[in-house]
Amino acid sequence: MGRPAIFFDRDGTLSYEIGYVNHLSRFRLLPYAVDAVRLVNASGRLAVLVTNQAGVARGYFSAEVLAAVNSALVLMLKDEGAYLDGVYVCPHHPTEGAPPYRTVCDCRKPRPGLLYRAAADHGLDLAQATLIGDKPSDLVAARAVGARSVLVLTGYGRGEWEHRRSTFTVPPDHVADDLCAAVDWVLSRRSP
Ligand SMILES: [Mg+2]
Ligand SMILES: [Zn+2]
Repeated sequence: MGRPAIFFDRDGTLSYEIGYVNHLSRFRLLPYAVDAVRLVNASGRLAVLVTNQAGVARGYFSAEVLAAVNSALVLMLKDEGAYLDGVYVCPHHPTEGAPPYRTVCDCRKPRPGLLYRAAADHGLDLAQATLIGDKPSDLVAARAVGARSVLVLTGYGRGEWEHRRSTFTVPPDHVADDLCAAVDWVLSRRSP
């Protein structure tokens, strides 16, 4: 019997999608992101970040800058009484940059490696998990592990949903205006 969790994408879901976050000054949380994480914390589900950051592989920013941004995110949440139970990052790209970050990895969404890693670390039941994100790759990663997915209309979400959903290989289980609405939907469901 594993634990239930909600996975969050970072850029476009918790924070503004502004392109590559190559400096801490470019990182901003979306409105109500903190409230959404706090709701998850109060629900007893784990709150886990899963993010692709191929800017490292591409050489746009270092692993240190990436770590600093994620640390700042954790602190911004903590200041408001919200916490992440885990932060999982894919810094890879299959064809860009140089090794070791240029590699065909198992963790770049839509691949499910980050979700499996989190599940192993925290004893999660992925069948009871939901991934909230703004891209089709988030939906595919969720489906790959038997989790549900919610597409948020922040970040790339609105454009993907309004103009490109005919290309989706995996439809979202739900579409929500923002992260808070997404979490509300997940928590209002009786069964996982
Ligand atoms: Mg995103
Ligand atoms: Zn990876």
